[in-house]
Amino acid sequence: MSEPVKPAGRYAILSDVHGNLDSLQRAFALIEPDDVVLCLGDIVGYGPNPNECVQMIRERASHAVLGNHDLAALDNFGIEFFNEPAKEAIAWTQGVLTPENRAWLNTLPYELRFPEFLLVHGAPVNYFEYIWDKPTAAAAFARTDAPLIFVGHTHVAEHWSLEESGEVGHRHMQFGGELVLEKGKRYIVDVGSVGQPRDLNPEASIVFFEPGSGRVRWRRYSYDIPDVQRKIHDAHLPDYLAQRLEAGR
Ligand code: ZN
Repeated sequence: MSEPVKPAGRYAILSDVHGNLDSLQRAFALIEPDDVVLCLGDIVGYGPNPNECVQMIRERASHAVLGNHDLAALDNFGIEFFNEPAKEAIAWTQGVLTPENRAWLNTLPYELRFPEFLLVHGAPVNYFEYIWDKPTAAAAFARTDAPLIFVGHTHVAEHWSLEESGEVGHRHMQFGGELVLEKGKRYIVDVGSVGQPRDLNPEASIVFFEPGSGRVRWRRYSYDIPDVQRKIHDAHLPDYLAQRLEAGR
């Protein structure tokens, strides 16, 4: 984790794993050995395999930033804003997280800035703010000079663009798709969620970014949802957390 990012041919960027090991394993099956893996946080919370997911990210990701559920699992941060199932899941997660995995989560930074891009969980500076419309996207662009910002947090695969004129553009990536970065524009890329998609497509989402060609590609993929639902049930986590996986919301 301490080495600088090597010049990558391709980055694989993932977020909001939320203890969903089945989906994370499928994601890693799509990632090539040469890809530099970046994680945007919320590795734990909601799902039944937080330790296994932290372990896989520790082993395979070059860099990771802290998500609000990771922080809540460490010190209850923000749980007053969580709904009941999320609160229950965080209490359960706190009970099962190993000391080593807790300690590792505690080392994660809120942001990582590279020459070409910024990594944050939710938004620049206000790290756990949601970017969900053009005004919040415009405000987020204004808080950084990064040309390209990778975020997660909303569990919605989409991107926002900023023209030199100040006009903000937007596109959903509900079924995957590609963006080719244009000179003179800035971008916020929301990579979507590995562990709990909420854009009405239950397929999980990861992003591949090729800095050489400026291509950003959202890849949606299926995984064994019934198996994860079984594990949620066996762990006595709220049933709502199982139901929402198949609804994709
Ligand atoms: Zn999340």
